[in-house]
Amino acid sequence: MRIRNIATATLLGGLALSLAACGKTGTPAQQGKNTIEPPPQMQVAKDVNITGSPTFDRIKQNGKITIGVKDDQPGLGYKDSVSQKFTGFDIDIANYLAAQLGYGPDKIVYKQVQSAGREAAVGNGDVDFYVGTYTINDKRKQQVGFAGPYFVAGQDLLVRKDDNSIKGPESLKDKTVCSAKGSTPVQNIKEKGYAKEVREQDKYSDCVSMLQNKQVDAVTTDDAILKGYAAQKPDLYKVVGKTFTKEPYGVGLNKDDKVLRNKLDDFLQKALDDGDWQKFYDGTLGKSGSPAPQKPTIERY
Ligand code: GLU
Repeated sequence: MRIRNIATATLLGGLALSLAACGKTGTPAQQGKNTIEPPPQMQVAKDVNITGSPTFDRIKQNGKITIGVKDDQPGLGYKDSVSQKFTGFDIDIANYLAAQLGYGPDKIVYKQVQSAGREAAVGNGDVDFYVGTYTINDKRKQQVGFAGPYFVAGQDLLVRKDDNSIKGPESLKDKTVCSAKGSTPVQNIKEKGYAKEVREQDKYSDCVSMLQNKQVDAVTTDDAILKGYAAQKPDLYKVVGKTFTKEPYGVGLNKDDKVLRNKLDDFLQKALDDGDWQKFYDGTLGKSGSPAPQKPTIERY
C-alpha cells in the first residue's frame, strides 16, 4: 500500500500504535508504559519573512531546516528502529518551531548529535538549531545562543529495580556511576566527588546497558531522561526521584543570531500560552506517569 497523504499516514500509524498498545490513552493501566501518540498536527506558517538572521537565510537557501536532536532518549528525542520515526517532547518542540518558521515535516532533516558534540554542531552550522535536553548555562552561552527555557528538569539517578541502597547522591560513595561525556550531570558528579568512580559514555543508552549488565550501579542525568528509560523497562529500572540540580532546557543556536533567538523565544511563548506546550507534554513525557511540571519562564537575554 502506498500512502501519499501525510495526514492519512499519521492517522494510520497512530491507529496501529494504539492498537498495539491495546488500551485507551490516559487510562491508569497505561501509566508507566511507553505509548507513542501520533504527533500533533501543526499549522505550517506561510510566507515567513525574517530579516537579519543569517541562520534563517541559510535555511531559506537550503529549502530545508536541519535540526540537531537526540535519538536514544524515549519521551524526549527518540528514533524508532522499525519506523525510523522521531518522537518525543523535544521533537514536538522542534517541529513546532520549524512549522512557525514555515517548514513542515517534509522539509525537516533531523541530525543526531550527542551531548559532547552540540557546541561544535551549532557553531559550525552543521545544524540550524538544536533541540535535545540541552541545559542553558553561562559556560555554554560563551559558544552558543539559547532560546527558552522551554522545560526545566533536574539531575537524578537511575538504578536497578531491586537496588534499595541508593537513595540520592550521598549514597554513591562506594558506587560506580555512568553519564554522558560533555553533559552537565557528568561534570557535576565529578566536581562534587559523590561517586567512587565515574564512567563516561557517548550516549545515555550506553550507560543504561551498562546498568543492566551490572558494570555500573547507577546512571545519572536529568530526571526527564531517566523516567523515559524507566518507563520503557519498568521491571528493570527505577528513578530514585530526588533531583539535585536544575537543568533548564534551551534551543541551541548560533551565538550571534539574536534575531532568530528572539523569534524562537516568541514562538515558545506562544506554545506556552495557547496550550500547545501542554499538549506536547501530555502526549510524550506525561505518558511516563508524572504530572506536568511548572511551565518555564522564557528568559530572553
Ligand atoms: N541537560 C543536561 C545537559 O545538557 C544533560 C542531558 C544531556 O546530556 O543532553 O548536559
